[in-house]
Amino acid sequence: MVGLLEEARELSIFTAYNTNVDAITYLRGEIVQRLIDEFGADAVRRRMEEYPRQIEEPIDFVARLVHALKTGKPMAVPLVNEELQAWFDSHFKYDVERMGGQAGIIANLLANLDFRKVIVYTPHLARKQAEMFVPRKNLFYPVVDNGRLVFRHPSEAYREGDPVKVNRIFEFRAGTTFRLGDETVTVPFSGRFIVSARFDSIRIYTEPGLKPFLPEIGLVADGAILSGYQGIKLRYSDGRDANHYLREAKRDILLLKREDDVKVHLEFASIQNRELRKKVIYNIFPLVDSVGMDESEIAYVLSALGYPELSDRIFTYNRIEDTVLGGKILIDEMNLEVLQIHTIYYIMYITHSNNPLSEEELRSSLELAATLAAARASLGDIRSPEDFKRGLSVPYNERGEYVKLRFEEAKRRLRTREYKVVIIPTRLVRNPVSTVGLGDTISAGAFTSYLALLRRKGTP
Ligand code: AMP
Repeated sequence: MVGLLEEARELSIFTAYNTNVDAITYLRGEIVQRLIDEFGADAVRRRMEEYPRQIEEPIDFVARLVHALKTGKPMAVPLVNEELQAWFDSHFKYDVERMGGQAGIIANLLANLDFRKVIVYTPHLARKQAEMFVPRKNLFYPVVDNGRLVFRHPSEAYREGDPVKVNRIFEFRAGTTFRLGDETVTVPFSGRFIVSARFDSIRIYTEPGLKPFLPEIGLVADGAILSGYQGIKLRYSDGRDANHYLREAKRDILLLKREDDVKVHLEFASIQNRELRKKVIYNIFPLVDSVGMDESEIAYVLSALGYPELSDRIFTYNRIEDTVLGGKILIDEMNLEVLQIHTIYYIMYITHSNNPLSEEELRSSLELAATLAAARASLGDIRSPEDFKRGLSVPYNERGEYVKLRFEEAKRRLRTREYKVVIIPTRLVRNPVSTVGLGDTISAGAFTSYLALLRRKGTP
């Protein structure tokens, strides 16, 4: 596995678009209790039933937070009302500030792993944001200088005055307890609840001056990892809308692929708004080669594609069989080359049967991804290729054998002859230092090792 990582590190990767500052609070039971007491358990319960899709007032936040704590599932909910920032600042102190946003997290991870070249693009690069990039010589930000494309470290490319996006992250630990009226809640899994800033000033796009150089970037890169579409708003104050930004996003992918058909991975994140979710799926999925997501995201996707029953089943029962079925639907309808789904207990690839990699190779790519995530969960961060080895000492989760058994059953019941489906158990760290970015780590590890294996085979 160490050998495969070395091969992956030979690659140059482009990643865009989303970066932000994550302001992290470690939640204790008392903090949650205080919030519930402030609004009253009954009011919180009522709002939980309404399940607000975005945060417009503080009780929306409390309701969605308590919901996430009860299920122990990681969640992200957009904050649209900029005025609420003061409420958050008065209620919480932030324990840590660090790089957030999938593109930012992946760029730092791959740079620290010593990849050949990591090119990161984010449309807003204020000084504070730029300073969150690791000081590595292989990390670059594309800049147009005198009509030419040049690469500089982000800390030499920032623009004073660019907006900074701050996401508030509430990390919770399994076993935390609090009372919701007469009910005692114990958090079943460690995870995080993200309040993501969705303000008008933050856009997801490529600046017009840089756009003509995307084909050149595509030539330099062996693969591209794109993310952040969940940050698009349906409408902006200047009259632009999601359709505008998604049309531009499609053009970006076509431009990146123009010269060399560079493989593109989309790292999907939950999109609460159904209309936007559907637009992202229908506009972007058909243009990319690879998609990564977690279990709740595939449920959301299936619901948007018109499979509400299957989606509900995945949400409620988390059965492997349903996830495999959902994955088959998705790669067929969107004609993906590869779909990767990560859950707390297992990681899965689904491809068509003519995928150039064997099931064994696909499995080794997932192994690398799971080990990388375990290393990050144990250490909090991955600072060098050596850190990867830490993941090897983390055992597979205790349900690993059960997962394999259920998977074999699922394969027997479902028609899988036209597909390659592989699954491996996760290496679960009992007390992770942090869970932020673990999904991104899995996807970055999986996609880059997938590319390395294709290259080993001489497949373009
Ligand atoms: P996401 O929901 O996209 O952030 O992905 C989180 C993924 O990280 C999960 O699906 C697991 O595969 C993995 N993960 C979560 N917690 C741990 C942990 N404590 N140790 C190792 N991997 C973890």
